Amino acid sequence: MGAEGIRHSLRERGFRLTRQRQILLELIDKSGQHLDAERLYQMARAIDPKLNRVTVYRTLKMLKHGGLVDELDLMHVEGDQHYYETRMKGEHAHIICLRCGRVEEYFGEPLESLKRQVEAVFGFQIVIQRTEVGGYCSHCQRLRAEELADAARAAEATAPVTRTGKRGS
Ligand SMILES: [Zn+2]
Ligand SMILES: [Zn+2]
Repeated sequence: MGAEGIRHSLRERGFRLTRQRQILLELIDKSGQHLDAERLYQMARAIDPKLNRVTVYRTLKMLKHGGLVDELDLMHVEGDQHYYETRMKGEHAHIICLRCGRVEEYFGEPLESLKRQVEAVFGFQIVIQRTEVGGYCSHCQRLRAEELADAARAAEATAPVTRTGKRGS
């Protein structure tokens, strides 16, 4: 979505296109990533040094309420900040590694069928759907297996000596 698309979607929702709204929407839209408010503030300041933190945070809130960006917590794996991404991206789930914090995106038909089923079963009109999956990526699974083995060895080495003189397991 280019600058024209952003102007259009703001107008469509009855928002005035202020400079800070345009800057933030463009940053979020172009990055295609999940950026937290502080990072967005730094990036916005590099474009317009007059922007202050309060304005940036308030603008993000407004863009969220206006349905232009999604606010994610990504399982709070890096702390309690929130992340922002464009809503123009299409339905996807976030797959979050609880060890390294890596975030993958899953786009697939099952998300659409989940939506249709929820609508049918509950007679629900879905406005927003957010799917987050937490676990360990393949790299971290290997590291965790090693860590667990190390911990087991360390526990064995410090295990109390039993009355028979043998080390407990
Ligand atoms: Zn990982
Ligand atoms: Zn995403």
